[in-house]
Amino acid sequence: MKFGFDIDDTLINLRGYAFELYKRKLGVDLGDEVLQSLASVEIHEPFGLTREQGKEMWNSLREDIYFTSCPPFPFAVEVLQELAEQGHEVYYITARAKEYCARTLEWLRQNGFPVRGEHFYCGMEDTEKVHIIERLGLDYYFDDKPAVLNTLSGLQLAVYAKDNPYNKHLEIPRITSWHELREIVRAHEK
Ligand SMILES: [Mg+2]
Repeated sequence: MKFGFDIDDTLINLRGYAFELYKRKLGVDLGDEVLQSLASVEIHEPFGLTREQGKEMWNSLREDIYFTSCPPFPFAVEVLQELAEQGHEVYYITARAKEYCARTLEWLRQNGFPVRGEHFYCGMEDTEKVHIIERLGLDYYFDDKPAVLNTLSGLQLAVYAKDNPYNKHLEIPRITSWHELREIVRAHEK
């Protein structure tokens, strides 16, 4: 089968990692519960930053956020490796900006994700993902972002939300921890 994955906040804890970087950079101590109750993808608000300041902050830290030690979510690497070993096709579809694509591919490999060069799509807009997903004929697709997930309801595939505070309102299947994907695959193959 063909499995497609968004990367940021789907396979890796980018938002949580950026939150910690913001705390250090700004010298502000905020508990994890603040992040967990924040109903936006963006994290500037609890730091008292405007949207514009938040954007500047994000851009100034983007190298660190993307390419230092942002942790994958538990079981993400293991379960994707298992899929690849079982002969399934694993695709990555990320809307990171074009200038970061080559290094993102490299980062995925260095961090143990199974990736074949041609199965990596990067640098599109959120709203363009739907066309790639359709063209690839994926059986499953996983993303965290309402702006992406909301575009996929017309497609013939199984779409899951990676559970995050800002997508709780979506009434679609969701995955909370990546070990759950093993059960989804097993149930499909019965
Ligand atoms: Mg994402």
